[in-house]
Amino acid sequence: MAQREDYYKTLGVKRAATQEEIRKAYRRLARKYHPDLNPGDKVAEEKFKQLSEAYDILSDSKKREVYDKFGTYSDNIREAARGPAGAGFDFDWSVFTGAGAAGASPGGTGPSGGASFRDIFSELFGSGARGASAQAQSHPQRGADIEIPLALSFEEAINGLTTNINVRRSEICARCHGLGEAGTGLLSCAACNGTGKISTGGGFLRFDQSCADCNGTGKRRPPCPGCHGRGVLPKYETVKVRIPAGVDTGSRVRVNGKGEAGPKGASPGDLYIITNVSPHRVFTRKGDNIHCIVPITLPEAALGAKIEVPTVSGKAQLRIPPGTQSGQVFRLREKGAPSLRGSTRGDQYVEVKVVLPKIIDEDSKSLLREFAKRNPENPRVAMGLE
Ligand SMILES: [Zn+2]
Ligand SMILES: [Zn+2]
Repeated sequence: MAQREDYYKTLGVKRAATQEEIRKAYRRLARKYHPDLNPGDKVAEEKFKQLSEAYDILSDSKKREVYDKFGTYSDNIREAARGPAGAGFDFDWSVFTGAGAAGASPGGTGPSGGASFRDIFSELFGSGARGASAQAQSHPQRGADIEIPLALSFEEAINGLTTNINVRRSEICARCHGLGEAGTGLLSCAACNGTGKISTGGGFLRFDQSCADCNGTGKRRPPCPGCHGRGVLPKYETVKVRIPAGVDTGSRVRVNGKGEAGPKGASPGDLYIITNVSPHRVFTRKGDNIHCIVPITLPEAALGAKIEVPTVSGKAQLRIPPGTQSGQVFRLREKGAPSLRGSTRGDQYVEVKVVLPKIIDEDSKSLLREFAKRNPENPRVAMGLE
């Protein structure tokens, strides 16, 4: 196991810092070192790991208490296990179950105990149960988010639209208000077989922890007949979604509160619409800028002209200066896609391509021969050819 850092130093807070101060410090630093913002940066990645680890311990009052007492979180498990004066954990050293991974323990997703015990196991056995999933389990106060893809035409992405989307989501059971229980009288808790305790872990250690389903009482009220004790019900819902003008492939449009219902009546997650934009036959997008290729004739290129070009918001005038070469690019300001971050628009870039006329009649051919005679320049001189 790696050398432990001073978690307070890692987060840059005092030992007496409040939970709020710790949370703020973590959020500020995590934003700075997040791997998504520092792709390929190993130093930032390591720093982010240390931050997460420090926050994992210090944000949990039980873990923090133990850490404060013993200095290193992994060693203190053994220390705490020896004496009854530990951190209030209920250890059972006598049980040797022989196998089992830390992450596979049953139950234990309650607000206290469960997730932290899994963390202890993953520290002891390196099972890798930490990270996003463990984080989510230790904060069950919100329902899960739902992601739904949505195909859009190029124009719809530029202009935005309001549409209805069918979402299969869960909703709090109205009969039991999400608690999953109903009626009167008490039954033996099924999760812990009425013992009030759940055993977690494996290897040479096993912990007993208070059953989250029955709060350690071993008894529960009968399950709600409306939701069979799940507290939530599946629901098909038509959700009205406003896609803002300017989305591109991979944009995430959030609809608040239309994700899965939260556990035990907690607030629901969010719905995310992930847009997928079809290509256009004329325009291509690069961020908020739009690119297109427009053909022009030889006289237009040579003599200059005012031409009409297509834009996503209708036709626009473009002045071609005399002597324009094929491949030259002109910018039309603010004729691109609307920006999602403000009221500006991108630009449109028009690349002109000179197309030669089909010269078939003898008069045109002799004109062109005359033209060549009057303009004997060789464009390949710069290549050393004469
Ligand atoms: Zn119910
Ligand atoms: Zn129970």
